[in-house]
Amino acid sequence: MRAFNFSAGPATLPTEVITQVQQELPDWRGTGMSVMELSHRSPEFAGILSQAELDLRELLDLPDHYRVVFCQEGASAHWDMIPLNLLQGNPRADYVETGHWSTRAIEEGRRYCTVNIVASNRGDGCGAIPPQSEWRLDPRAAYVHYCSNETIEGLEFFWVPDTGPVPLVVDMSSHFLSRPMDISRFGLVYAGAQKNIGPAGLSIALIRDDLLKPAAPGTPFLMDYQRQAQAHSMLNTPPTFTIWVAGLVFQWIRRQGGLRAMERLSREKSGLLYDFLDAGGFYRTQVRREDRSRMNVPFQLPTPALDSVFLREAAQNGLHQLRGHRVVGGMRASLYNAMPVEGVKALVNFMSDFERRYG
Ligand SMILES: *Cc1c(COP(=O)(O)O)cnc(C)c1O
Repeated sequence: MRAFNFSAGPATLPTEVITQVQQELPDWRGTGMSVMELSHRSPEFAGILSQAELDLRELLDLPDHYRVVFCQEGASAHWDMIPLNLLQGNPRADYVETGHWSTRAIEEGRRYCTVNIVASNRGDGCGAIPPQSEWRLDPRAAYVHYCSNETIEGLEFFWVPDTGPVPLVVDMSSHFLSRPMDISRFGLVYAGAQKNIGPAGLSIALIRDDLLKPAAPGTPFLMDYQRQAQAHSMLNTPPTFTIWVAGLVFQWIRRQGGLRAMERLSREKSGLLYDFLDAGGFYRTQVRREDRSRMNVPFQLPTPALDSVFLREAAQNGLHQLRGHRVVGGMRASLYNAMPVEGVKALVNFMSDFERRYG
């Protein structure tokens, strides 16, 4: 029986990449060393890093005036790095609140500036994304921050907000590289690796050149985007192994047909699951149809008493890590790039059988 991992992160990686890591690990290209043992200042590692950046640029069709920064910290570190680097003395910033992760960014942002909550869906239980017509943007804000895929509530923006001249800053952690995105619409994009890029221990920031300015006084030097960009992410020892695996994932995506292919697959996978959820009355989903995430699909059973039965039987069928986040409860199936269509078909078959037996 084949096993499938629906974890929201650290998440499933392509089987092909895991096999490649296994094969290349003991002796990286005849160096007699594993990639983990190579000096980060060696020409070999310099090659790995620059290839990873090139492949990422090609996948995203990234304009030349954007820098790619590989950071050792997770996505959470950017909640501090963004105000420290982008406020530039301005006391205010705009934040959109759409769920758990955007709220965390707001809490952190408040340590540095007056946060204007442009719009919030807290009142309606995070079931929908507030349309831009209801946003109260402040033209004096240093930037506008939002999270384009709320991993926990399962909301995804299928449109890019228009903030005029105010730089748009986005947390793309949980749907980065799942479809083509016009990066030129953003001032700064960041994403943690362990959702859709590779192993934990890395985050990636794409920063428009004109936003690279000296950070606020007192900023820890590793949290300074400008210095990181100038040092090509080598201010200190970068997470070499993680960057290598991320690079292998970029090449895997390219072999599959790039971001258009990822989008086709994720439409197919999420379509299978949402169509199934909509067809019966047994399982419930809370998110408005237009805002449903293609990456993270939360759903509820008729009673929480069935949760542990469902999880146990699912695991017996090779379907793992379906427990929802403790904030929303219930179940959650994450359908990242590396999740094959067969995994979703196996899940839907199991769910349908479970419904027959317990419905
Ligand atoms: C997982 C996640 C984070 C937190 O990532 P860390 O790497 O643990 O800091 C932030 N934002 C989003 C959207 C996430 O999915």
